[in-house]
Amino acid sequence: MNPELRALYQEMILDHGRRPRHFGAPAEYTHRIEAYNPLCGDRLTLYATVEGETITSLQFEGEGCAISVASASMMCEDLENHSCPQAKQQLRHFLDLVTGRAQSSDLGRLEMLAGVKAFPSRVKCATLAWHALENIVTGVDEPVTTE
Ligand code: ZN
Repeated sequence: MNPELRALYQEMILDHGRRPRHFGAPAEYTHRIEAYNPLCGDRLTLYATVEGETITSLQFEGEGCAISVASASMMCEDLENHSCPQAKQQLRHFLDLVTGRAQSSDLGRLEMLAGVKAFPSRVKCATLAWHALENIVTGVDEPVTTE
C-alpha cells in the first residue's frame, strides 16, 4: 500500500472512531446481537434488518475503544445493502486478514484496520462487531463474547 493511501486510511479509521456512522438503535430491525469484549471493555449491540437475502439496514450502538467503534462503523457502512452470502465472504476475508491467516486482499481501508494483527489483544477489538454480524448471517441468535 502506498504511503499516501496508508495515511488516508489511517485518518479514516481515526475519524470513524471519533464520529461513528450508522450509530444508534433503529426503531425497527429483524436481528439484534450483543457483543462484549471483557478484555478491553468494548460492549456493542448490532442491529440488522434482513429482507430476503439482503441486509437492508445495519446499525450499532454501545461503547468501546476507538478500534472497536471504528471497525463497527466501517463494517456497517461497507456491508449495508449487501446480500448475506456477500457479507459472509467479506467477513471471512476480514477475519482471515486480521488474524494473519491471509496476507492481503482487496478490502481497502479495512486492510489498514488489519494492522492490529501485530497486537493480539487488539484483534478482539477489531473483530467484535464482525463476529456479531457473523451470527446474524449464519442464523445464530446468541450474544458474542470474546472470552
Ligand atoms: Zn477495544
